[in-house]
Amino acid sequence: MVGIVLVSHSKQLAAGVRELAAQMVGDDVSLAVAAGIDDPVNPLGTDTMQVYQAIESVYSADGVVVLMDLGSALLSAEMALEFLSEEQREKIHLCEAPFVEGAIAATISAASGNSITQVIADAQGALTAKATQLGINEAINNQQAQDSNSHIAQIQITVTNKLGLHARPAAKFVTTAAKFQAQIEVRNITRNTNFVRADSINQVATLAVRQGHEIAIAATGVDTEAALVALQELVASNFGEDDSDLVPIGIDASENSVAGELIGIPASIGVAIAPIFQYRPITVRVEEYIVEDTATEWQRLQRAIQTATQDLQALQTTQLGDEAEIFSAHLLVLQDPALLDPVHQRIFLHHQNAEFAWKSTIDELAHNFYTLDDTYLQERANDITDVGQKVLRSLSGMTASTIELTQPSILVTTDLSPSDTAQLDTTKVLGICTTRGSATSHTAILARTLNIPAVVGAPATILHLTNGTLLAIDGASGKVWLEPDTNTITTLQAKRHAILQAQQQAQTTAHQPAITRDRKRITIVANISSVADAKTAIKNGAEGVGLLRTEFLYLNRTTAPTEEEQFTVYQAIAQVLERRPFIIRTLDIGGDKPLPYLRLQPESNPFLGKRGIRFCLENQDIFKTQLRAIVRASHGHQIKIMFPMIATVQEVQAAKAILLEVQTELRHANIPFDATMQIGIMVEIPSAVAIADQLATEVNFFSIGTNDLSQYVMAADRTNPDVAMLADALHPSVLRTIEQTVKAAHHAGIWVGLCGELAADPLATSILVGLGLDELSLNSPAIPTIKHTITELKRSESEAIAQTALNLNSAQDVKTLVTTTTNHQAEFHQNSLA
Ligand code: PEP
Ligand code: MG
Repeated sequence: MVGIVLVSHSKQLAAGVRELAAQMVGDDVSLAVAAGIDDPVNPLGTDTMQVYQAIESVYSADGVVVLMDLGSALLSAEMALEFLSEEQREKIHLCEAPFVEGAIAATISAASGNSITQVIADAQGALTAKATQLGINEAINNQQAQDSNSHIAQIQITVTNKLGLHARPAAKFVTTAAKFQAQIEVRNITRNTNFVRADSINQVATLAVRQGHEIAIAATGVDTEAALVALQELVASNFGEDDSDLVPIGIDASENSVAGELIGIPASIGVAIAPIFQYRPITVRVEEYIVEDTATEWQRLQRAIQTATQDLQALQTTQLGDEAEIFSAHLLVLQDPALLDPVHQRIFLHHQNAEFAWKSTIDELAHNFYTLDDTYLQERANDITDVGQKVLRSLSGMTASTIELTQPSILVTTDLSPSDTAQLDTTKVLGICTTRGSATSHTAILARTLNIPAVVGAPATILHLTNGTLLAIDGASGKVWLEPDTNTITTLQAKRHAILQAQQQAQTTAHQPAITRDRKRITIVANISSVADAKTAIKNGAEGVGLLRTEFLYLNRTTAPTEEEQFTVYQAIAQVLERRPFIIRTLDIGGDKPLPYLRLQPESNPFLGKRGIRFCLENQDIFKTQLRAIVRASHGHQIKIMFPMIATVQEVQAAKAILLEVQTELRHANIPFDATMQIGIMVEIPSAVAIADQLATEVNFFSIGTNDLSQYVMAADRTNPDVAMLADALHPSVLRTIEQTVKAAHHAGIWVGLCGELAADPLATSILVGLGLDELSLNSPAIPTIKHTITELKRSESEAIAQTALNLNSAQDVKTLVTTTTNHQAEFHQNSLA
């Protein structure tokens, strides 16, 4: 039987809901409660461990549906999942249904022995009966159709990531929006579209939001403010995307350029020479017929959707790492009301069979994408069709298609679905060549992740070649050779060898210390914001964490996180890092990161206002709660603490005094902690650079925050694109502040790192090594490249480059200097981005 878990801030509320549910179904249900916290003064709150234990107590192979009340209940439930095994996690569903109505509906459904899909569907539909009875369905619909004037709050923001709201960012957008109770809508101002539901992956994606487009997000409801802040943060953070692996698009596939040589679109670098294997995916044929028992037909569809969901969840755990997020977008398609509602109507109103209702709706949706004047969005039609075929295969009792190759080959086909690509046997598929697709299709993205050379959009001639014909492809140039001659094969083999060697070299360096050719070691650590980031960091060769931005704990919620919540997260990250160093930065809120529930006074210059340590020193309850959590987590780990936005010596002294108070209290309470924990500060304000010698006597280390330092040195707001060119950390004025800080730190005998974005820029590496930085902290995907770049450098040469750079008069001149003096480095950068 499906288990139910109720997560609430209030013990009484949860007990009341449990009582109501018990009245309906007696003891015939497996229901557990995780509510309130063990704090007699303020018992309202949620506790991750309680949620975890509640899930464990009702867990079975049938799955568990978790219903949450507000804000931190969601965060606690999400964090509880981290403690479960992967197998268990797949069977837990955090349900967005209303707490009371959803719990009752889910309990009744579970007690009747329904599947987890049905229990979820019943919980999600729990408000329908109430709305119908009150006659407000129409009113709700009308409200959704109203224009922006009727929304209580609205923000406008420019989308800056390279591909705009494509599938994965759209998935993140929809999941973030769905965490809130507010009704949220979004529209593309640039394309002058109407508002669409922010919880519909398909509706959001059809807005065709591209880089540079302005969108409006509007919301009404209790947590409107928090919802808008969360979405704004998400957009502003580029959806956490690393755009660097994109191959430029727009290269036209043309017919044969030379006899036996074709041109397609470069999709994934690498060279492959092998016999062809022609693959033709089987598509399910669908017939239309009338059904009488519409309820059974709907259930049949639900079961097929459930099977497809399990398939996709399995694909999420394949060899694809972060790219498996594509399948999160596919999962959202399966839950999308904009897809399910029309299918529901076709079955219940028009009595269509499930296959026909599903396929017709999928085709309409795919067609909508296909007719958009945007290559990337046209590619999304492929995703929709892929998901649609999965469900159809399950409805018709067919097993999932697999591509079975008998010998190492180049796979030739019209197009590969993302699921097909994810399941490829990489020992047998040496290359991929398709006649459709673009460099931004998911097939191309996945091929890059799997490191399979690929050319897409090749001429259709290749489809007529017989199996076994020798083919060669170059995924960097998009060239395809039919039966290449001996000379071509020799040249291509040499190229293949060179590429493989460069890749192997970077991979080897990734997990080795970064040491220059003249033996200077630079510690390479990661900037992270979550437990998941910590895992990715280790995978990419990080030697620890140089910056945990703790703000993420405070976002997307209605109250500040408790000490226990924070402690759990810090400890979880420390466990992932084992004994590696781990710097936790205390709350850096304010500036571009406001928090609605803190009720901060609006400031006309928030970046010059009560930000970071200034806020914490004025809100000591919040500060002390965080310090207690950090100090407790330090026991048995290599945690260091870092204060942000330090402008004066007095601020460091005040922060240290509060830290000492906390440590004394813990000592009296016999709570263990690391009494030798190092204390550091961010150097990101020009005044801190000016008095770096004085500050160095107060702390154990500095970490230079070039993101803020550049904006403050240049007086150019880091969030204002009009002045972004000015706030360039490679400008000699900023480089001089770095030099000054490093000198002061070393003179005082303390170490100094750099954790701004500059650390991830290979063009800056020689200068930073030359200026004497001891540690660089950067985003994880950039780690292998930066480590490799360092191994190619000589400290003495880097010092000379740095000294020259300090005396140039523009950031552009600095860039030219680096590219002309460190060719090998620029070349590697090109390769790694190609
Ligand atoms: C910085 O300012 O360089 C930094 C690392 O901190 P943040 O970007 O979080 O302000
Ligand atoms: Mg900063």
